[in-house]
Amino acid sequence: NVKPNDLSAFWMPFTANRQFKQAPRMLVAAKDMHYTADDGRRVLDGTAGLWCVNAGHCRPKITEAIQNQAAELDYAPAFQMGHPIVFEFANRLVDMAPEGMDHVFFTNSGSESVDTALKIALAYHRAKGDGARFRLIGRERGYHGVNFGGISVGGIVANRKMFGTLLTGVDHLAHTHLPGKNAFIRGEPEHGGDLADELERIVTLHDASTIAAVIVEPVAGSTGVLIPPKGYLKRLRDICDKHGILLIFDEVITGFGRLGTPFAADYFDVVPDIMTTAKGVTNGVIPMGAVFVKKEIHDAFMNGPEHLIEFFHGYTYSGNPIASAAGIATLETYKEEGLLTRGAELGPYWEDALHSLKEAPYVIDIRNIGLVGAIELEPIAGQPTKRAFSAFLKAFEKGVLIRTTGDIIALSPPLIIEKGQIDEIVDCLREVLRMVD
Ligand code: PMP
Repeated sequence: NVKPNDLSAFWMPFTANRQFKQAPRMLVAAKDMHYTADDGRRVLDGTAGLWCVNAGHCRPKITEAIQNQAAELDYAPAFQMGHPIVFEFANRLVDMAPEGMDHVFFTNSGSESVDTALKIALAYHRAKGDGARFRLIGRERGYHGVNFGGISVGGIVANRKMFGTLLTGVDHLAHTHLPGKNAFIRGEPEHGGDLADELERIVTLHDASTIAAVIVEPVAGSTGVLIPPKGYLKRLRDICDKHGILLIFDEVITGFGRLGTPFAADYFDVVPDIMTTAKGVTNGVIPMGAVFVKKEIHDAFMNGPEHLIEFFHGYTYSGNPIASAAGIATLETYKEEGLLTRGAELGPYWEDALHSLKEAPYVIDIRNIGLVGAIELEPIAGQPTKRAFSAFLKAFEKGVLIRTTGDIIALSPPLIIEKGQIDEIVDCLREVLRMVD
């Protein structure tokens, strides 16, 4: 009998349960849109696990691919050797990637994808003889995983303050130039271009010749669904082009259909130089990440002069056969069921349903894009995060899994969701918000 508590051997990664002295809610099975809790209750998954199970749970095609691959070729090193499945998977990924992103490198997680992308950016400039470009620019409230590169460029001070100086030379784009407002939430929706000009300020401050890359989530997920104001990403692209700075999109959440297009790059019609993914690449079922790069970047450090082939990077599990097989089955499932555009089809219904919560208690903002949603609650004075966490507990009791980040309820259901299930999530939230203090 598992009794999760403070004495458990397993160290829980996140702290909300500890903060509020709650044992984790236990899940024991899953199928399609539902989890089964340890007391036998079915729980509707409003979060696709952690933004990853885009095709829903325990899909037979994916499960079988994993079983068959595990029985056929369980492991093959990606150093010196290869296996056909990973090459096939890479080709399929590149076929669906934004224009010009012709190469893909495999990692095991979003955090590893981010650190890989940052290393590629530095290696690229070095390979071009431009080694003075060492600065990396992130953004306030950006989340890029928990490895050293990711927390350095990440914009969440709390995540990095106990780890010293981290990567040096990092700077961050601000979220707003109007004090007290957050342009990504409300306030400046039409002024994305102006806000992106913040990058020009940083370029002036540091000199363009020292800046290697800018990394942003096209839509920030983990920090509360922050949708860029109009024109923001295009303008960032222009400024990067003007100064020879690489643009990295962290699409760990937005990739694989979350916004109703294969990638956010497609949604916003802005192609980055490097694109990080994970989660939905294998339907979240097997740990894997994929970093896409433009041909020019790949060729610079892979085919450059000999001393430049020093870019040593690779993981024991890069492109492992079982994950690759799961990935191929995942892409086939997305395609056969039209899941990568489902966020666009269901988007208007999703939007109306979420915005019907406008008058619910404590709701101060509602945001949506594709099949992502955020309901921001007024915080309890002096007790931030408490109200949203209480909503999470109550929703779980009522059979709906939501996610909270700070005082924001974040929603990102599997893309197989039906309209009736959208209603179920929203009706549950309406009831729960009447119950929380
Ligand atoms: N980047 C983004 C944008 C993410 O949302 C996440 C995880 N939520 C990561 C990176 C890190 O991914 P992982 O947890 O797989 O390391």
